[in-house]
Amino acid sequence: MEKAFTKKKALGQNFLTSDNIPMRIAAVCGADENTGVIEIGPGMGILTKQLVKIAPKVVAIELDEELIPHLNKRFEDAQNFKLINNDVLKCDIKQILEDEFDGLNCCVCANLPYYITTPIIMKLLEGDYRFKAITVMIQKEVADRLASGPKEDGYGAITVVVNYYAKVVKHFKVGAANFSPRPKVDSAVISIIPYEDKPVKPVCEKTFFEVIKGAFATRRKTLVNSLSAVFGDRLTKEALLDIITENHTPTVRGEELSVAELAKISDRIYEIIKG
Ligand code: SAM
Repeated sequence: MEKAFTKKKALGQNFLTSDNIPMRIAAVCGADENTGVIEIGPGMGILTKQLVKIAPKVVAIELDEELIPHLNKRFEDAQNFKLINNDVLKCDIKQILEDEFDGLNCCVCANLPYYITTPIIMKLLEGDYRFKAITVMIQKEVADRLASGPKEDGYGAITVVVNYYAKVVKHFKVGAANFSPRPKVDSAVISIIPYEDKPVKPVCEKTFFEVIKGAFATRRKTLVNSLSAVFGDRLTKEALLDIITENHTPTVRGEELSVAELAKISDRIYEIIKG
């Protein structure tokens, strides 16, 4: 008899308990006859089961080696299934795309391990992998944050960075009762759809990211004070104030500005500091 499996809290193992939610996630993830899927953290395979039905190829990346024999057995007849036993953050995604998705579009679909939600999303966006969509179930609070706009609750550096790379679409909320073990918070499913051509194009990405980091580092500070802390060695406070007041009040705060507005400020800063 197989040894009973004990779920590992440290690996974020809150498993879905019925087929209803996985079916709904699979239906919105963008998989179709021309679009394969990379699934992160298949767990026992409850979402994988839906994905192998609709995609020509499913590559599942699971860190927990104890789950590997179970998954291989469960999908031994699925010709379109491939399992990789690795940490997704250490995987060479470009190589996986080349080796496994030749000629196919690819999307990502996952009930993410919540302890590394942000690093995973950032890895998938920064790599410029041309995913059709990245559809993830994450903590509802994080989903709300990613889908928020300027002046709204939760709007922060991660919102701006993700929305620089992609459009965020909210799908549906998933209550904690749908998981085992039951987490303390509700979840939500969102799609992050990377732009083929980013609508906002800062002249210098490095400066733009410095502006974002600075603008949200201390929420109660005005933008001029926050940015002085970052660019103080290269720009006077007066010069920063001049740049900001070209389009905003002197007391504007970072959380009031859109991706495009922050990029505009970053372009003006770069123009001066590049010398
Ligand atoms: N997909 C399953 C479900 O919906 O029931 C499991 C989802 S569970 C929230 C997260 C899964 O990610 C677990 O199977 C866990 O072992 C796996 N995992 C955790 N950290 C990982 C990592 N760094 N790389 C790949 N998989 C990871």
